[in-house]
Amino acid sequence: MQKPPKAGKVFLVGAGPGDIELLTLKAARLLASADIVLIDDLAGDEVLALCPQARIIHVGKRGGCKSTPQSFIEKLLVREALAGHAVVRLKGGDVSLFGRASEEIFALEAAGIEFEIVPGVTAGLAAAAELKASLTHRDHAHGVAFITAHGAEGAEIPWQALAQSALTLVVYMGVARVASLQTSLLAGGLRGDTPVIAVERASRADTRNVCSTVAAMVNDFAEQQLKSPAVLVIGEAMAERARTLAETAQLATAVTRVA
Ligand code: SAH
Repeated sequence: MQKPPKAGKVFLVGAGPGDIELLTLKAARLLASADIVLIDDLAGDEVLALCPQARIIHVGKRGGCKSTPQSFIEKLLVREALAGHAVVRLKGGDVSLFGRASEEIFALEAAGIEFEIVPGVTAGLAAAAELKASLTHRDHAHGVAFITAHGAEGAEIPWQALAQSALTLVVYMGVARVASLQTSLLAGGLRGDTPVIAVERASRADTRNVCSTVAAMVNDFAEQQLKSPAVLVIGEAMAERARTLAETAQLATAVTRVA
């Protein structure tokens, strides 16, 4: 009698924000023993050196191409696991934030495939580290909300509650939607002078940040040509940091003028 094929397994793995040293040891071990790696653009190419044995499938938006349909990714995960392979699905940052993991989990469960989730360092935490700032503050920020600006103008995000929550808001996918984000936050009651710091490409060598306020962010980000990927960190917890960064920038400009 023919033996049934050995069941495969899928690992949904967070690759962290870009700096390869922020990848977990567990992620590196799984990459080194994977048969197949499905990789997002945000995960970056450096990780490929960690899995030279694996078949690599790019499933992100590359070179202006359309992103791979989600349903195709789910079918691929199921098909390769059923064929007995160890499959790593590598996502930028953490798996559980804005990475469509819920659809993949559902598809794997429906197909009876064994799977595991390996967390990663999300962009918002890498941004805080980049700023050398704390997202919470014992006096005026008692928690953090990770939010997508996708649908910033829609009713599905409780902007008013968020604006009045005194939480630090870490906004993902906000660069293209900063105008509607501003409208929603101001309409929700957030003060115009609330500090906002945008961190572009956190943890990468070419990272940069732009300090602004809720009232000024549309102009400031346009002027500084803020580009994706960036997160916006909004709230009083950023006040001190914004001041220091502004002073450093002024100093740098003054030094350049003198030179
Ligand atoms: N799962 C990812 C988020 C994916 S959504 C995570 O946990 O980080 C994509 C958004 O993440 C981007 O639009 C941007 O807002 C943010 N992002 C991803 N990598 C980033 C980085 N290195 N620096 C700043 N923002 C980043």
